[in-house]
Amino acid sequence: MPGFEIFGDEEKREVGEVLETGVLFRYGFDAARKDRWKARTFEMDLARKLGVNHCLLVSSGTAALNVALAACGIGAGDEVILSPFTFVATFEAILSVGAVPVFAEIDDTLCLDPAAVARVVTPRTRAVAPVHMCGSMADIEALRALCDEKGLILIEDACQAVGATCHGRAAGTFGHMGCFSFDPVKTITCGEGGAVVTDDPALYARADQYADHGHDHLGNDRGKEDHPILGFNFRISELNAAVGVAQLRKLDRILATQRKNKAFLRSVLKEVPGVSFRRIPDPDGDSATFLSFLLPDEDSTRKAAKDLAAAGVDGSFYWYDNNWHYLRQWDHLKKMVAAARLPQQLLENVPDYGSVSFPVSDGIMGRMISMLIKLSWSDRDLEERASKIRKVFGL
Ligand SMILES: *Cc1c(COP(=O)(O)O)cnc(C)c1O
Repeated sequence: MPGFEIFGDEEKREVGEVLETGVLFRYGFDAARKDRWKARTFEMDLARKLGVNHCLLVSSGTAALNVALAACGIGAGDEVILSPFTFVATFEAILSVGAVPVFAEIDDTLCLDPAAVARVVTPRTRAVAPVHMCGSMADIEALRALCDEKGLILIEDACQAVGATCHGRAAGTFGHMGCFSFDPVKTITCGEGGAVVTDDPALYARADQYADHGHDHLGNDRGKEDHPILGFNFRISELNAAVGVAQLRKLDRILATQRKNKAFLRSVLKEVPGVSFRRIPDPDGDSATFLSFLLPDEDSTRKAAKDLAAAGVDGSFYWYDNNWHYLRQWDHLKKMVAAARLPQQLLENVPDYGSVSFPVSDGIMGRMISMLIKLSWSDRDLEERASKIRKVFGL
């Protein structure tokens, strides 16, 4: 999965070009930068790759979510529906704009269940933020239809799904806005970085302004630029963007390798009695960063995860017990919502995250293991892995 596995001369060359000019800022310095625009290049390349009109690079995936929410005008007291299976950044970003995270059950896609989303919509709901977890997509066409029907904004957290598609359309381009992360362990990385994409020029303009202190970015003199809105600093540096430029050029190769490695391991696991696999609405569009499978019950799954680790099958995640990716273990959210600094009158609207229950999601997550798919495996590595897996499951 992680792009850092295949760092090479390409990344060094791109970074070297930035260091040579000494211009690390993405805006201005036109004479000194010798026409090197790494952030701009990455944005144009990514927009073309995803088939979307606008792309804005920002400092992280978390920043991307924050910027997207702000650009869509989501703020104090608005409810945003999200999945309890995600990385903590999704609810952090929602809280950071003063909005209220409202969780809904997942289904066998491991992502938000559209029917469950419909059940938690209230008059305060403004947006739905599905997360395409572990490289494969949510039932995004149904979620888009639901949002259209209810007049809700759709913001995709595609931080883990760059390169995934559903019926030919890229993850991140179904919503009003889509968010990506290029942090150190993502499919492609630039150290720290993220992107917001949209087809809507007005949303793009607001995101572009918000991520740079409200600057309108019209004209060349930063000191004279206008500030149509209040903003913040979520900018990316040219150094980070340069790494991303090189990594993005490797994305097709990364996806092809992941798909090949995943198909092989899937064929091995398929032999395990009682095993089933996560539903992927369009299997051909899977970015294949993880192989997620389900066993018949929680006890056998927890034991399998332990046995796989003991057998040296590294990167086998039992998210149900993990502190970062599933609501069950988010004690800091359960106990410390006040730390989000929401005004008292808004806190009254916040669900008691300590007592909400998600029996369907628990039933799925308790039986699910995700295996990380690596790029650097040789055929021999894969065979060795397969034989360890067969041994663990007594095949
Ligand atoms: C990584 C990730 C983020 C945050 O990205 P950063 O670049 O690390 O800030 C958000 N959502 C999901 C689902 C992620 O996996």
